[in-house]
Amino acid sequence: MAPRPSLWRARTVVPDPASSIEDGAVLHRDGRVLAVGRYADLRREGGRAEDLGEVALLPGLVNAHAHLDLTGARGRFAPSSDFLAWILLLRPFRESEGPGAAARAAEEGGRELLAGGCTLVADMVYEEGAVEGLRRSGIRAQAHHEVLELGPALAHRPLRRALELSRAEGTGGLLAGALGLHSPWTCSAEVIRRGAAEARALRLPVSMHLAETRMESDWLLRGEGGFAPALRNLVPPGWTPPGAGPAAWLRGLGFLDEPRLLAHGNHLEGEGIDAVRDSGSVVVHCPGSHAFFSHDRHPVAALAAAGIPVALGTDSLASHPDGVLSMTGEMRRLAAREPSLEPREILAMATVNGAEGMGLAGLAGVLAPGSFADAAAFAAPGGWKGPATLLDPDLRCTAAFVGGVLRHGPKGN
Ligand SMILES: [Zn+2]
Repeated sequence: MAPRPSLWRARTVVPDPASSIEDGAVLHRDGRVLAVGRYADLRREGGRAEDLGEVALLPGLVNAHAHLDLTGARGRFAPSSDFLAWILLLRPFRESEGPGAAARAAEEGGRELLAGGCTLVADMVYEEGAVEGLRRSGIRAQAHHEVLELGPALAHRPLRRALELSRAEGTGGLLAGALGLHSPWTCSAEVIRRGAAEARALRLPVSMHLAETRMESDWLLRGEGGFAPALRNLVPPGWTPPGAGPAAWLRGLGFLDEPRLLAHGNHLEGEGIDAVRDSGSVVVHCPGSHAFFSHDRHPVAALAAAGIPVALGTDSLASHPDGVLSMTGEMRRLAAREPSLEPREILAMATVNGAEGMGLAGLAGVLAPGSFADAAAFAAPGGWKGPATLLDPDLRCTAAFVGGVLRHGPKGN
């Protein structure tokens, strides 16, 4: 006989950005949601009812781009507009950390996200040990194993190894494998083509940093710009620039034949926007990291107008002006920067859009029959007044559940 379901009761249940239920409840069993509705209607179904009190219960927030193995870099890097100098400092920083540091950093990062109501993260895994830390933290995670292969300074993990790791992790558990091709300027055409083909065969989600700086398109179009002095020494002899912007180049390689999770997209425009839209990909904006590098205003509005879903991410603490991993913090930053965005749209960016980009539409980022029982309870001084409440700096996450299990809160961590 199947175990009896459990019931969460809350002052308000917010199953998705467009709806809310007063005195609501979520019925769940075996890590999945069975029903969402009014407590009065669901109370008879539940075995064990848990009253979460004067809170709004939402789907757990979704962090669509992070590097949690860099959580130990909190406060170590000053904001800078010199992106290349910054990225070249990362390896020495990682090497200065002792054994086990990546696992500890990823665990700390996962717990910090949970404490802010984020229950799912697409984490770019550079250090293999980070996976153990993600598991220990209790957060639901997609481990995007990073592939870089550009000369000795920016080479890390061959594609074959990344595929082995993600295949071993599978796609069904709390921790799932995925492929993270670092960027169009650190991966060759061959790796991008093969990565796309192998990921298709293995049904793996694939992410990539895209159009993060103007230097990327200067390099790909003409082999010039800020990257050129360093990269000329790293590319193979005889290398010639593809002569296309990053998104157009990726489309030409077949990489955008399927939806991808594309981090940043800071400089997408024109043909690049068309290429991303036609692929059904999701772009992840990281407001804190964006400010750290003093990038130009992010084209959130242009992407949304073109029909591209935009998700939110924290990126890493090696490039964060606040030194904090908080999805509501990212939402507040974005709202301050883009006042024309509706709070409801910002909530979608922090939930359903991220889930879609991770290939988890309908499973994560919503509370609905069949979805993961991943939820976060929030308390605000004035009570729930719609999605704008999530932007209140006095908001507190009182509980976070992953697969129906309390991972942060009074009895959790
Ligand atoms: Zn990143």
